[in-house]
Amino acid sequence: MYELGIINGRIYQGKDFKPLNIYVSEGEIREISKEKHECKEVIDATKRMVLPGLIDPHVHMALNTGNDISADDFVSGSKTAAYGGVTTIIDFVKPISHENEWEEALKERLEEAQDSCIDYSFHATAGEFTGNPEALKKLCKGSGIPSVKLFTTYSESKRRNSYQVIEQFFDPEMVVLVHCEEESLIKRQWKEVKTYEKSRPVMAERAAAMKIGEIAEKTGHKAYIVHISSGSTLDVLKLNFRSLLGKTLFLESSPHYFALSDMKLSNTDGQLYLVNPPLRGGKELMRLRNSIHLVDTIGSDHCPYHTHQKMVSDNASLVPKGFGGIEPSFPIMFNLFGEKIIPLYTSKPAQIFGLKNKGELRVGKDADIMIYDSTLSVTIKETHSNGDYSVYEGLKIRGKVETTIARGKVIMHQGEFYGGQGRFIRR
Ligand SMILES: [Zn+2]
Repeated sequence: MYELGIINGRIYQGKDFKPLNIYVSEGEIREISKEKHECKEVIDATKRMVLPGLIDPHVHMALNTGNDISADDFVSGSKTAAYGGVTTIIDFVKPISHENEWEEALKERLEEAQDSCIDYSFHATAGEFTGNPEALKKLCKGSGIPSVKLFTTYSESKRRNSYQVIEQFFDPEMVVLVHCEEESLIKRQWKEVKTYEKSRPVMAERAAAMKIGEIAEKTGHKAYIVHISSGSTLDVLKLNFRSLLGKTLFLESSPHYFALSDMKLSNTDGQLYLVNPPLRGGKELMRLRNSIHLVDTIGSDHCPYHTHQKMVSDNASLVPKGFGGIEPSFPIMFNLFGEKIIPLYTSKPAQIFGLKNKGELRVGKDADIMIYDSTLSVTIKETHSNGDYSVYEGLKIRGKVETTIARGKVIMHQGEFYGGQGRFIRR
C-alpha cells in the first residue's frame, strides 16, 4: 500500500498534462499511472493541475546586511514559500573575501536553515575577493555547492569584484552567478525615491551583462545573470550571444519586474518598492514581457522587510533594498504567461543547478508536488511572510496553490499549514 495517492488530476509531464494518478512512498514518487491503488492518504485533484514542487533559485532568508536583518528567517520564509508551492529554495552563503572563511560561513548558514520546512541549498558568494579562486571553487564543490555569486557593484559594502576576478571563477564544473550593474554607471548617493530608477539605469545593467556574456563566450563555461530587470538587457544579450543562451549563458528574472513599474515609487510610501536593480518604466516592462522566451528561470529574490524598516527615511540611499515575493511568484507569472512558465520554476532550475531529484514528476524523483487550481480568480492580500506588507497587495490573478507536498509529506493543504522538515541538498 502506498503512503499517498494524488488521483484524478491533470499531471504535468514536461510539455503537456495527462490524466494520471501519482503514488508516493518514503518521500519518493513510486508510480505514475492510470491505475487505482489503495493508499493510506488520498488527495483528489479533480480539475486541478498537478505540478512538480517549485524551485526558487534566488532567495534571501535571514539576510543580515549589517544595518538591517530581513524579516523572514528560514522558518517563516520556508512557510511562506510552502504557501506558494515552493519545495526547494537556493539561498546564499554570506559574502567571503578569502577561501579560509568558507567553512565557518557555510556552517553558520546551515545552522540558520536547519528548521526550514522545505529542502534548501546555497550558492557561495565571493565579495571583494583577495584569496585564491581555485581554492574556493574546490571547497565549494567539496561542500556540494557548485555555484558562486559575484557582484559587479556594491564596493561600498565590499562586495564588488573586477571583471578579471569574476573571470577567474569561471569553471567547467560550476555556475557563476553575477549581479550585473556596471558600477561606473550608477549614482550611488541618490536621495529622491520617486526618481530612484534613474540612479541605476538600464544602461548599467546592459553594460555589465555584455561583459559577462563576453566572459562566458571566451571561457566556454557557465554564467547565470541574476534578476534581469529590463527587456532591453534580454534583447541585447540575444543579439550578441544567441548561440550561448540556455547552454552556457543563463538568464534569471524576477516577478516584480513583470508585474510592477517604477510608477510605484511616486506613491507616498514609495520606499516600500525600492529594490536593486530598480523597478523600470512601462516600456521596459512591456519589452521584458515580450522577451519572456529568453528567460531561463524565475527567482523571487525574496527579501522582505517590515514597513518601519523601509520607511526609515525619505532618503532612498538609506532605505534597505528588496521586498518579499516568494509566495505570489508563481501565481503572478502564471497569470501573465500561462502554462509555458512552468519549466522556469521546475525543470530548468533543476538542470542548471544540478538538483538531480527535483523539478519533474517522474518515478524515482523526490515526491515534491504542488497542486494548483487555475480556475479561481484571486486578489492578493497579505502573505504568510513575517514581512508586514506585500508589494502585490490588490493585484488580481488567476489561480491558487491548493496543496504543497515536500518529499511525500503534505505541508500545506487548502490554506492549512502542517509543517515539515527540509534537508540540505548537496548538488
Ligand atoms: Zn538577491
